[in-house]
Amino acid sequence: MTTYDLAIVGGGIGGSALAAVMARQGRSVLLLEQSETYVDRVRGEWIAPWGVVETRRVGLYDLLRKVGGHHLSRHITYDESKDPAVAASQALPLGIFAPDVPGPLCLGHPLHCQTLFDAAREAGADARRGVTVTALTLGPSPALAFEQDGETVAVSARLIVGADGRTSQVREAAGIALHQDKPHHWFAGLLVDGVEGWADDLQAIGTEDDFGFLAFPQGSGRVRVYGGYALGEAKRFKGPDAARRFLDAFAMRSSPENRHLVAGRPAGPLYSYVNADSWTDEPYAPGVVLVGDAAGWNDPIIGLGLSITYRDVRLVSDLLKASDDWTPAALAPYGEERRERMRRLRAAATLQAGLDMEFGEAARERRRRHFERAAADPILGMHAVAVMAGPEVPPAEIFTQAHRDRALGPEA
Ligand SMILES: Cc1cc2nc3c(=O)[nH]c(=O)nc-3n(C[C@H](O)[C@H](O)[C@H](O)COP(=O)(O)OP(=O)(O)OC[C@H]3O[C@@H](n4cnc5c(N)ncnc54)[C@H](O)[C@@H]3O)c2cc1C
Repeated sequence: MTTYDLAIVGGGIGGSALAAVMARQGRSVLLLEQSETYVDRVRGEWIAPWGVVETRRVGLYDLLRKVGGHHLSRHITYDESKDPAVAASQALPLGIFAPDVPGPLCLGHPLHCQTLFDAAREAGADARRGVTVTALTLGPSPALAFEQDGETVAVSARLIVGADGRTSQVREAAGIALHQDKPHHWFAGLLVDGVEGWADDLQAIGTEDDFGFLAFPQGSGRVRVYGGYALGEAKRFKGPDAARRFLDAFAMRSSPENRHLVAGRPAGPLYSYVNADSWTDEPYAPGVVLVGDAAGWNDPIIGLGLSITYRDVRLVSDLLKASDDWTPAALAPYGEERRERMRRLRAAATLQAGLDMEFGEAARERRRRHFERAAADPILGMHAVAVMAGPEVPPAEIFTQAHRDRALGPEA
């Protein structure tokens, strides 16, 4: 039976990045990915400035840029309570949140995964596709079995890593409980091609009537768009012409530039998710550690899953490189940092969702008052600093109920 230092289940962003980092350190790494090819599953394609810093710290930023990683430099928040010209004149420069980072980085998810998987293999990892994990033994002598091309292979490892996403088989096998907030809104995403006229460096969000939108260009007329709508509208974007009706929902008086998105062509599937936060108390147990979504995920309304995953990779790889003790006690600093990071980001996401993804008269009035008061008291918009610069940057009081009450009004 072959023995590896690390056996990583899941070759998405987290698993492949960790495999590349550890294989570059000369560790023996087995990387197991169930899919044969990476396809558009409507997953993250926008990395926050603090996440870009994490990609640098693990030595993968240059690679992401080389394969087409595209920086954005400006943000506009449109809203039905704002004059669009005034909203555009208040565009936020995005190069202010992290040293030497021009702004968020956008890259298609399938290409991102493939690039990291190839990097892991190039660095010497035993990286395999089309694999089904059939047995997992955790505890003091970790081992697993998998099937590939009709053959069953059994291996042992010093540590098994669960990087297998939201429905993690490894988390389940380790008996690590996943806590979840109640869903807040529907969130659908679509890749759009042929978008002429939308500035390549401009991201925008906005809410009007019963729909909230987000748009993140990837260069060359391609834009990843997301739309949020009320939980009661499960069937709103179902059926054969759903992608067209979804794009038509972007036509907004308060964001006239959206006409360019409406005129674009769907270039991938339209998938809808219910947005909420989830978390684990301790993303590790004897013989196992979880990274990325497997360890719990933040509501995608603030687009931080990739940044969170890259930080997980950095923290876990630093601990594994620093010592030969790979026990839960040695991994505790990762768990501690992640717990507070996810708590803060949960507060930031629920505040943002309460602002952008609630609809109707009361929500409209709440947004209008928020914009008015935040213009006079920038502290009320500080949760956005957590999104862009990192959750550790704003003071602790930003992540309290008292702050939420100040930012949204006590009734929210
Ligand atoms: C609608 C939506 C929009 C989002 N937008 C953003 C955004 O703009 N920015 C951002 O930062 N984040 C965003 N995210 C979150 C981001 O996509 C995730 O946080 C990120 O992909 C997590 O990476 P991961 O490697 O942990 O998991 P995944 O990307 O889910 O990868 C897991 C991998 O494991 C494989 N796998 C699963 N089970 C097994 C198994 N048993 N054996 C072997 N392989 C297995 C899968 O095939 C997959 O390749 C969004 C998420 C959603 C749902």
